[in-house]
Amino acid sequence: MNSGIKITGLLGEHIEKSISPLIQNFFIDYYGLKYIYIPFQISNTELVDAIKAIRVLKIKGMNITNPFKEKAVSLMDEVDESVIKIGALNTIFNKNDRLFGYNTDWFGFQKPLKDYLDFDFREKKIFVLGAGGAARAIIYALINGGCSEISIFNRSYDHAEKLKKDFINFFPQCQIKILSFQDKYLQEIINSSDLIVNTTPLGSWYHPDINPLPHFIEYPSRAIFYDLIYSPDKTPFLEKAEENGNAFLNGKKMLVYQAAKSFFLWTGIEPDELIIDKILKSI
Ligand code: NAP
Repeated sequence: MNSGIKITGLLGEHIEKSISPLIQNFFIDYYGLKYIYIPFQISNTELVDAIKAIRVLKIKGMNITNPFKEKAVSLMDEVDESVIKIGALNTIFNKNDRLFGYNTDWFGFQKPLKDYLDFDFREKKIFVLGAGGAARAIIYALINGGCSEISIFNRSYDHAEKLKKDFINFFPQCQIKILSFQDKYLQEIINSSDLIVNTTPLGSWYHPDINPLPHFIEYPSRAIFYDLIYSPDKTPFLEKAEENGNAFLNGKKMLVYQAAKSFFLWTGIEPDELIIDKILKSI
């Protein structure tokens, strides 16, 4: 662009309701940058052309969302170590027509736990609901942080098994267990967990009023409950945690911190807590 305005944006299939443009525009306005952030809605067959367009149109940076986070990896010139291990990216940085892929979801997940709840991952036992792309990013964060045991509970056993195989390949020291609905140790493992994370969409606006944990499960008293869903503010999973007196987090802070890290990769500016708080109050 001759005007000197740098283009950034979001590539995804169903992004009508995405709040990433709102968050990125808050950052751009706050720092008075000559950047714009544009949502680009594309269909499943258009990813390769859209990635080519990043180079042709000199787009500076792009966020990638579902269902392209995994497919985009092989289209990059270089990827960060986290992308290799997670198997997915959510941020592209165009440096002199070379595309660099990053994953900032794992950072967005761990930052609020550390900053707001003073949670130290070392030697902790974690229970994860779901085995999709978000679960992979958070399991990377958990292993990196030094947690000692991860238990995965997922609708499709084979998806959880694949995830376990991939991670054991990179992190042979990590203890990963897979649990099913019928597992007789389910309650026992939940009772011994320090952190219980929902990475499924159950309880979100498109699967409302559903708790991903089986109805017979009793909430333990000391665990932290973390739901990656950000709309609604409090899913049934978190409502029950609040009733039980547990500490809990929803996915809003993760959303803002992963966006802040993407913004940093594109601009070199790490958003300060004033703007982070302002955004958290307005979304
Ligand atoms: P994904 O790759 O499609 O994975 C979805 C996971 O949920 C899979 O394990 C899937 O199980 C399970 N699941 C889906 N529908 C289900 C159902 N009806 N019953 C039981 N399990 C079901 O999606 P994702 O990218 O991981 O995203 C998952 C959630 O995390 C979404 O709600 C997304 O908005 C949220 N998220 C939030 C942030 C944030 O910044 N706060 C970032 C990323 C994602 P199967 O293996 O059986 O298919």
